[in-house]
Amino acid sequence: MWNLKNKKAVITGGTKGIGKATLMEFLALGAEVIFTSRNKEEITAIEKELQKEGHKVFGVLSDVSEAEGRDAIVSEVEKRWGTLDILVNNAGINIRKSAVEYSDEEYQKIIGINLTAPFMLSRKLYPFLKKSGNASIINVASVSAVVDTKTGSPYGMSKAGLVMQTKNLATEWAKDGIRVNAMSPWFTETPLTKKLLGQKERIDPILKHTPIGRVAQAEEMANVIAFLAMDNSSYITGQNLVVDGGITSTAL
Ligand code: NAP
Repeated sequence: MWNLKNKKAVITGGTKGIGKATLMEFLALGAEVIFTSRNKEEITAIEKELQKEGHKVFGVLSDVSEAEGRDAIVSEVEKRWGTLDILVNNAGINIRKSAVEYSDEEYQKIIGINLTAPFMLSRKLYPFLKKSGNASIINVASVSAVVDTKTGSPYGMSKAGLVMQTKNLATEWAKDGIRVNAMSPWFTETPLTKKLLGQKERIDPILKHTPIGRVAQAEEMANVIAFLAMDNSSYITGQNLVVDGGITSTAL
C-alpha cells in the first residue's frame, strides 16, 4: 500500500515549493495528477517536461480564489476522469504586517485564498470524491494555525480556520468514504519564505528555537502529504499532522 498507483489526484499550487514537491512525489508513487497555478508559462513548462518523462500529468490555469478558477479544475476532473481519489488544497499566500496595517483588501485576499478556496473547491469536487469511495483530502495548514509565529494574524487565523474546516468535513464526509486531514508545516524552504529565511534577524531565532535545528525542505512536507493520501493511512481522519521539527513541543 506504500504507493499511489492508479490514484487520481488534484494539487492546487503545484508549480512551486511544497506543491511542486508533492506533485513530484505523487508521480513517483504512480499517481495521475492535475496540478494548478496562476502562471500559464510555468504550468506549460512543467507539464511538457513531465509528460516527456511518461507521466500522466495535466496543468490547469486556475486562481483558486475565483469561482471561475475553481470551475476550471472541476471541468478538467470531469473531462479526464469523472472521479477523484485525492485533493491537496495546497495553494496559499501570506502578507506579513502588524494587525493595524492590513487593508481590508489584503485581509480578504489572505482569507479568500487560504480558507475560503479550500472549502469551495472541496465542496465542488465532493461528488467526484464520493464516487471514488476511498478518497482523501489533505489541507495544507501551518504551525501558525496552532501558535503565534509572528507572521501576521490573518494568516494564522486563516490556517486555524482551515484546521477546523478539516475536522468538520472529516466527520460530515466519513460516511462517503472521504477522509479529510490537515498537514501543518513549520518553516520550509520555498519561494514563499525565501526572502524571510534570508534575513539573519529572522532566521536566527527560528533555528535557535527549533529542536531539530534547521528549517524543513519541501520534500519533507510532500512525504507526509503522500502518506495521508495513501490507503496506508486509512484510519486517520480529522487530524492536523504538525510537521514542525519539534517547535510546538517547547516553550523555550
Ligand atoms: P509557494 O512557494 O509560494 O508556492 C505556492 C504555490 O501556490 C505556487 O505554485 C503558486 O503559484 C500557487 N498559488 C498561490 N496562490 C494561488 C492561487 N490564488 N490560485 C492558485 N494557485 C496559487 O508556497 P509554499 O511555501 O510552497 O506554501 C504552500 C502551502 O504551505 C501554503 O498553503 C502555505 O501557507 C503553507 N505553508 C508553508 C510554509 C513554509 O514555510 N513554506 C509553512 C507553513 C505553511 P502562482 O503564484 O504562480 O499562482
